[in-house]
Amino acid sequence: MPLPRRLLAGSQAVRVSIVLGLLAPLGMLVVSGFMLYEMRQEMWARAEETSRSLLQVIERDIARNIEITDLALQGLIAKAENPSVAAAPESLRRLVLFDRVVTADGLGILVLFDEHGTGILNSRYPSGAGGTFEDRDYFRVHQTNPDAGLYISEPYLSRMSGAYTVAFSRRISKPDGSFGGVAVATLKLSHFTQILEKVGLGRDGSINLVREDGIRIVRLPYTVRDVGTDLSTMPNFQRVLHERSGSFADRAARDGVHRLFTFGQVGDLPLFLVLGIGTEEIEAGWRAKAMTIGGTLLALFCVAVLLALLCGRELRRRGAVEAELARLSLTDGLTGLPNRRRFDAALDEAWRGAARSGRPLSLLIVDADHFKRFNDRHGHAVGDEILRGLARCLSAAVHRPHDLVCRIGGEEFALILPETDEEGAARVAEGVRAEVATLALGQAGIAAGAVTVSVGLAPSTAADTPAELYRAADAALYEAKAAGRDRVCRAATRPAPTHLRLVASSGGA
Ligand code: GH3
Ligand code: MG
Ligand code: MG
Repeated sequence: MPLPRRLLAGSQAVRVSIVLGLLAPLGMLVVSGFMLYEMRQEMWARAEETSRSLLQVIERDIARNIEITDLALQGLIAKAENPSVAAAPESLRRLVLFDRVVTADGLGILVLFDEHGTGILNSRYPSGAGGTFEDRDYFRVHQTNPDAGLYISEPYLSRMSGAYTVAFSRRISKPDGSFGGVAVATLKLSHFTQILEKVGLGRDGSINLVREDGIRIVRLPYTVRDVGTDLSTMPNFQRVLHERSGSFADRAARDGVHRLFTFGQVGDLPLFLVLGIGTEEIEAGWRAKAMTIGGTLLALFCVAVLLALLCGRELRRRGAVEAELARLSLTDGLTGLPNRRRFDAALDEAWRGAARSGRPLSLLIVDADHFKRFNDRHGHAVGDEILRGLARCLSAAVHRPHDLVCRIGGEEFALILPETDEEGAARVAEGVRAEVATLALGQAGIAAGAVTVSVGLAPSTAADTPAELYRAADAALYEAKAAGRDRVCRAATRPAPTHLRLVASSGGA
């Protein structure tokens, strides 16, 4: 039998208690699983919330610094474009252009380039910036696009400071509107890293400042090789660009670490900040709790299931013992035939069946003749052996599945024969005698024919109740004994309700 069916074997009550015993801990496990899931969701929501506020702080800081830098640039350009300033001697122009310039934290240098990319004045050195800067991206952008506005350059290695730097630039127009050069304000990359370092990134965290075109300005934790790399083809960056602000969890292409990325635009600048917190770190606290709670619950679940199964096994075992006891209580120990108790119930049942169907029913009572003598002569054990032999003979004499042979007393047996009329029952009774005639116990010196029986036969037509039927058969048996034994006597059928007319149907000794 397959395992689930074996587990559920037994009575309905056993099945119900096993199923309930299994369902209860299972339900507990499901509810706990749901609670742990909820806890995880809450923990994620909290991590998102924290990341968002951190990002906001950093974003405002960077936006404010760039705004101040831009204001310095715009002031510089307004003054540089002024014809009186342009006409003034260089020392005076320097004073006017760069004195009391509003400087952002870490502002590197303010430079004015002419239309050829040559540095003509700067805020730090007395002479020009040295060489031509025509090759710089910011110069080419303003040269070719008059509406570029504030341009944020790729990070580059400054020729003057030797440090990685980002240039913020605006176009200078000549009075006729033509390209007159570029004004540049630089910020060292370290200026950005200082701001970004305010965020505690944890073990697996990262933060990126990226231009809208995918060029990374800086990443923390800082390494030089991250400066200026192109992320435009990275799916995670494309998602940032598409959604503009929000968060998602994914694996980073750069180092394969799974992170919760929270991102947003810096002011309305073409810059994005992407903050990543390692999901393993986010979940670490929850995982520890989940392991403890889940482990404990799983252990409890296993114990509960084990108890339910043990309980089921015990109930099944008890059920089997009870069934065996019930069987034994209805069985004769010596012959294995149904006993008197079973006979009484079976006769009632057969009677009701006959009444319902209108079919006949007959009863034979078979009693061993002079049995006491066998006991006296051969001993009680031989007597028992004869009784077992009689049980076999009687069983061999009936053939229908509903015929029932019982031992109803010491050496007294009964045969309930449903759907059998008087003639049929008489044939069975003769069959019984014929079978008994073959019974022999060679070891005890009992030859075939030595054991005989008397039989009382009563058809259902001779009675109104099962008890009456029994009495009628018993009376017929008494008659058979009185008539000399080893024979069958029939109870008379009705109409003769007040007394039974007994007819000897066959004679023996
Ligand atoms: P009758 O022909 O009139 O029936 O005579 P009988 O000797 O068969 O009848 P009686 O009622 O006088 O004796 C029945 C005997 O059956 C008495 C008892 O010793 C014996 N007996 C009853 N039960 C058992 C049993 O389980 N084993 C053995 N060995 N003998 C039993
Ligand atoms: Mg007897
Ligand atoms: Mg007897």
